[in-house]
Amino acid sequence: MPTDVAIDARGAIDLLKELRALTADDNGAQRLAWSPMWIKAREWFQAKLRALPVEHHYDAAGNSWSTLKGKSEKALLIGSHLDSVPNGGWLDGALGVISAYAVLKRVAEEYDGKPPVTVRLVDWADEEGARFGRSLFGSSAFAGTETIEADRGRTDSTGKRLEDALAECGVRINEIGNAGIERKNAAAYLELHIEQGPVLESMNLPLGAVLGTKGVERHLITFHGQEAHSGSTPMNARRDALAAAAKLALEIRPIAKKHPDAVCTMGSVKTFPGIVTAVVGRCEATLDQRDLNADVLAAMYKEAQEKSRQFAQEENCTVEWSRIWNIAPEPFHPQLIEFCEQAIRETVGRSHRLPSGPLHDAAEVSRCGIPTTMMFVQSLKGISHNKIEDTSEEHLELAIVALDKLAQKTMDWIQKAGTKGSREQGTGETAS
Ligand SMILES: [Zn+2]
Repeated sequence: MPTDVAIDARGAIDLLKELRALTADDNGAQRLAWSPMWIKAREWFQAKLRALPVEHHYDAAGNSWSTLKGKSEKALLIGSHLDSVPNGGWLDGALGVISAYAVLKRVAEEYDGKPPVTVRLVDWADEEGARFGRSLFGSSAFAGTETIEADRGRTDSTGKRLEDALAECGVRINEIGNAGIERKNAAAYLELHIEQGPVLESMNLPLGAVLGTKGVERHLITFHGQEAHSGSTPMNARRDALAAAAKLALEIRPIAKKHPDAVCTMGSVKTFPGIVTAVVGRCEATLDQRDLNADVLAAMYKEAQEKSRQFAQEENCTVEWSRIWNIAPEPFHPQLIEFCEQAIRETVGRSHRLPSGPLHDAAEVSRCGIPTTMMFVQSLKGISHNKIEDTSEEHLELAIVALDKLAQKTMDWIQKAGTKGSREQGTGETAS
C-alpha cells in the first residue's frame, strides 16, 4: 500500500532537540541508565506517546513497549535506546527511538489507528552498560541471552549494586528473563542508528544498510620476561617483555588488513615493574579483534596467537593468553537488508552495505531468530559517545524518511507472509 500520509521528519528532529535541552548539560547527554535523568527522559517520551492510540507498558527488564494494535497480531518492532553514556551525544539511541515514534504516528494516522499488522515501539533498557558494565541489558533479557547470574554482583563506581539500582526503577533482578514474553508475535525488528564511524562520510553517502554486527574476540595477552637493571644488563642478555608486545602491536595491523572490514586493536599495555630504570619483566596487553565473518575472526585470532609465540621466542620470553570476552558475529536478515537498500535508494539515490563494528540491541533481537536489520545515517567526523557527536539535519531528515519507507516495506512483507509465517528466506545477498 502506498503511503498517503507523509512522515513528520522535521517534527522528529524538533523532539530530538527538545530531549537534548532536557537531558544534556555543557558536557553532553546525561541519560545514564537507571538514573533520575534517564527516568526523566522516559517520562518525557511517555507524555509524547499519550497522543497516539497505543497501549504502553514496561516489561520485566525495564524495556518500554508502545503497541499500536493491527488487524494481525504479527508485529513489526522498531526501536533503539534512550539511555546514553555519561557526557554522550544527542543522537546515539535517541534518534532510533524518536524516529520510531514518527513512524508509529504516521502509521496510526494513515490507517486510522488500525494498521494491517501490529507495530510496536521499543525503548531498550540500558543499551550502553555505561554504569554497570553490562551492555545490551534489556535486549538480552528480551532475547533470552541475559547473564544475570554473572551480572548479579556488579556495582557502579559508587559501589551501588546493580540489583538495588534496578529495584529503584521497579525491576526485580530475578524476573528479568520474563521479558522474553515480548517476543510473542514479533515478526521483524528495525533500528535506525547513527553510524558512529567514518565510513559513510568518507564515501559521501548519507545512509547505509547494515549487514550485521561484527563478532568480537577480546583477550588479555601476558608476555613474561625478566626484570633486570637498565644499567647493568647488556642488550643481548635481556628478556624484554615489552619488546615482544611491541612487535605484536605492529603485527596486528597486517593481520587485520588481509580482510576488508576486519579491525584489530591493542587498546591497553601495562608494563611491570613499570619504572624508568628496569627492563620490563612482564607486559600485559589487551587485544580486541572484530569481523562480521566468523571464519575470518577465528583466522585472525589464530594468527595473532602464532605471531605472539614467535615474538615471545625472539625476545626470549613466554606468552599466555586469556579470553576476556567474545561474541559471535550476527548477520542480519537478507530480505530486510534488501528492503533497507531499496528504501535508501528511493530516498537518496545511492546506498552502501556495511557491517557494524559497535554492538547494538538489534544483534540480540536477531540472535533470537527475529528477522532484523538496521539503517545507519552518516556521523559527522565519525565521532560518537561524545558531546560533539553530530549528523547534519538534512541527513537526519532523509534517514527518518527512509526508515519510514523501510517500515512500510517490512509491514507489507509481514502481512504477505501471513499464515506462511514471517521467517521465509529473502532474495538478497547473504550478509557475509
Ligand atoms: Zn546506541
